[in-house]
Amino acid sequence: MATARGLGSVISVVVLTVTGALTVTPAGAAPPGGADTETPWRTRHWPQTQPWQRDEPAALAEPGGGPQPIDPQHYELPDTMTWSDYRKVPGTNWADPAVHGSQRTFNGALVLVDYPNQPFVVTQPANSTIYQNPTGVQNLARDDVPAFYRDFLNKPGTLNRGHTIHEYWMEDSNGRFGIELSSFGVYRMASPSYEYGIESSMQHGRGCPAGAVCGRDLRGDARAAWIAAVGAEEAAKYDFVFFLSAGQDESSTWQEFGQMKFTTRDDVTDEFGPPDESLPNWNDTRYVPWTSWQASANIWPNAAAGSSVQAESSGMSTYAHEFSHILGVGDNYNNPYGIPARRDYSGPWEMLSRGTFNGPGGPHSRWLIPGTAGSSMGAQHMLRNKMKRHRRRRRGAEAVPGRPRPLRRRGDDGDGARGGQGPGRDHRDAGRRGQVGGL
Ligand SMILES: [Zn+2]
Repeated sequence: MATARGLGSVISVVVLTVTGALTVTPAGAAPPGGADTETPWRTRHWPQTQPWQRDEPAALAEPGGGPQPIDPQHYELPDTMTWSDYRKVPGTNWADPAVHGSQRTFNGALVLVDYPNQPFVVTQPANSTIYQNPTGVQNLARDDVPAFYRDFLNKPGTLNRGHTIHEYWMEDSNGRFGIELSSFGVYRMASPSYEYGIESSMQHGRGCPAGAVCGRDLRGDARAAWIAAVGAEEAAKYDFVFFLSAGQDESSTWQEFGQMKFTTRDDVTDEFGPPDESLPNWNDTRYVPWTSWQASANIWPNAAAGSSVQAESSGMSTYAHEFSHILGVGDNYNNPYGIPARRDYSGPWEMLSRGTFNGPGGPHSRWLIPGTAGSSMGAQHMLRNKMKRHRRRRRGAEAVPGRPRPLRRRGDDGDGARGGQGPGRDHRDAGRRGQVGGL
């Protein structure tokens, strides 16, 4: 009887969870078609239950009579957070662009590129893409896009709620390092976006449409377009380059527009499939066996010596993460979706781990364009990486364009994942071609 009651309880829980996912409008979610400007990621109805659809986990029960913890671990994950959860550091204004880093203010170039098949999403009508973007900013003129993203990323304003890359680095370094950005472009690439997004380390050679040339070098082609437009002398004035690619990035779409949207790989619809009917609508991706072809064809943010690559859904903290790599600080994460499951060591507490995805709504709201939710307010570096950053600075390992610094030593990364789906293998591959690592 005890066993039967226990089984019945388990089944009830499962049924409730599935029913809730399919038919119940989650608490706090806007009704269909009604956009809540505070939480726009909650307007979609996903087949799978999203973390923000669940209540916060109940506080751990404390055993009666036992000693109580001195520091109770009460915390809230970003999935259920909104902007009302932000608490400003008292007595500071690190976002002030007039205050420079006491050791150095890095001078960065933001270089924008689009494609024959992919304009900047913020130039398109609201909610017009297959991902239902853009959200809140739309119909911009192409010529206005570089200044828009420069200001969104690094000028205190309404849309970014006063939070910038400069603020992040000033706060994280206690005023030592600042960031300045100038914008360039938009430059039109000669090839379609998927020829850059589908490449060997994530897609393992799968999903390239007939007649296409996949695995193209976005960093090289974008840099060539920039230098052709402004000249090598102008380009040499900058300490580093943020390349910004039109469209979504794969890091923020493989899950929502893969296993969160489609129950099996064969359920992926033609809308999310390739421009080649002989290919399946799904494709290989980084952490799990499949995602939609369209998500797989997006670029994955990454960094190399002196530059990093991002896309329009990459929030401010994605840039802050990649700039860590530009300074030579390596990743500190593993595959949180690996089988068997492994502990995610520093998780949301660390910029070089899942903390990149912090911000209201957390990891599952990162598909928004522009990136105003998850990945808009990343965690600081934990002590390990603050120490590494300062040690590298003392060694003179700063960003110097055209002068690649030594790559990280073996063991700098967190635990690699199995089956080549995690950063372990990816970063070894990346190292061979002078690339520091993906997000
Ligand atoms: Zn990284």
